[in-house]
Amino acid sequence: MTSNVKIYQNYIGGRFEAASQMLDVRNPANGEVLSRVPESSPDDVQRALQAAHGAQKDWARKPAVERAAYLHTLADKIRGEAKALARVITLEQGKIGGLAETEVNFTADYLDYMAEWARRIEGEIIESDRPRESIFLFRKPLGVVAGILPWNFPFFLIARKMAPALVTGNTVVIKPSEETPNNCFEYTRLLDQIGLPAGVFNVVSGGGASTGSALTASPLVDMISFTGSVATGSHIMRNAADNITKVNLELGGKAPAIVLDDADIDLAVKAIRASRIINSGQVCNCAERVYVERKVADEFSDKIAKAMAATTYGDPTAQPDVEMGPLINREGLDKVSQMVTRAIRDGAELMTGGQVADLGAGFHYQPTVLGNCRADMRIMRDEIFGPVLPIQVVDDLDEAIALANDSEYGLTSSVYTRSLNRAMHAIREIDYGETYVNRENFEAMQGFHAGTRKSGIGGADGKHGLYEYTRTQVAYIETE
Ligand code: NAD
Repeated sequence: MTSNVKIYQNYIGGRFEAASQMLDVRNPANGEVLSRVPESSPDDVQRALQAAHGAQKDWARKPAVERAAYLHTLADKIRGEAKALARVITLEQGKIGGLAETEVNFTADYLDYMAEWARRIEGEIIESDRPRESIFLFRKPLGVVAGILPWNFPFFLIARKMAPALVTGNTVVIKPSEETPNNCFEYTRLLDQIGLPAGVFNVVSGGGASTGSALTASPLVDMISFTGSVATGSHIMRNAADNITKVNLELGGKAPAIVLDDADIDLAVKAIRASRIINSGQVCNCAERVYVERKVADEFSDKIAKAMAATTYGDPTAQPDVEMGPLINREGLDKVSQMVTRAIRDGAELMTGGQVADLGAGFHYQPTVLGNCRADMRIMRDEIFGPVLPIQVVDDLDEAIALANDSEYGLTSSVYTRSLNRAMHAIREIDYGETYVNRENFEAMQGFHAGTRKSGIGGADGKHGLYEYTRTQVAYIETE
């Protein structure tokens, strides 16, 4: 009998390389082993970093438009295999097929978008205090970027780090999440076909404590671009401190959704539900808690409980039409389940769901709505990362804003109202990196995705995200 288990190899200095230690990757919907991938040693990491370091100067000397051409070619290749790549993501991560395909196509568009910045990277000419002096501010690459990825949008996150890094003249070493490395190796298979100079893009897979730590502690790294949890982000900062390595951290969220009494309630229900069930609730900018004004609280709560209860779920590879797949692993499922149990014990009203969904296999949780929540409950404070929506009733917008701001997170937020004045008041007073008005949470590639407080340092996307991957050099030139 032939095995369907794929064996993947690291990509170092333009070559695929076997590793001595391997890890199993499983399908979260049924536990099946999908692949074996390298558990990279500190030595593997060191060689990848040396390859990136060795390639960087020549790469940076190329005109940006030449560097960008590689990104366009890769984007076309990705589009050409979009369906197959989406299936790889669904199998290892559990997201439904439609969303996986959206992720793949969005990734290709993102590569094109960042490539288009090649002719728009600009320095500055600054007025001098001296006669016959010119002051130029140049933008230069940082050097070697270590990109450490989470599992929730694993394919897109490769491009979100690699594309701005490469177009500005950096080289990269990517470490995918140990939960979802397969799509990264498929991305790399396509990248290997485009003739990129050896060492410009490297991949080492493995666990966080071993491979990740080796990467972030190395003096060969000039910037760590990390997306993941607050706990890991904080650990990475400590590791980076010894070498004063620049960190860009995209961390967790606890997005508040504020529903005011003049809102279009059906629109709010539709958008907040979409924001809560996407990727089974495992998105950093998902609506994680609702503050609803008393006058419309019953109507909103009843409608969203019905809408959540109608959400279909299951194994997305066996049932392509379901709206939600499983959670990523046992740990994620147990965490969600324990948070709901505790919230009910603390006085929350279970409006729908509230149970692990017994489908025979996989880490499925029922879409759940909890009413009567209070600010002191853990469910209103901690990131849930599952399809569970807690609701708290408030007296007015200012109370909602105060509760929203009283959080260690500060990534995304949303407000539902028909009043422009109230929307603008919310935008002025709410301390979050992003605010969505009358729409579901999801950022655009030309925006700037960045959180305050423990949600991170720096950001991604758009012009500001591009310049995160550059440093400046100011030249003072005096002539006769
Ligand atoms: P995680 O922190 O557990 O892991 C992320 C990555 O860090 C993995 O590759 C892991 O191997 C690595 N890692 C773990 N320990 C490490 C260490 N000591 N040194 C170096 N690397 C280490 O996060 P996750 O569970 O994969 O992702 C979910 C989290 O990511 C959520 O909190 C979510 O909100 C956040 N997230 C944030 C954004 C954003 O844009 N702000 C986007 C997606 C996900």
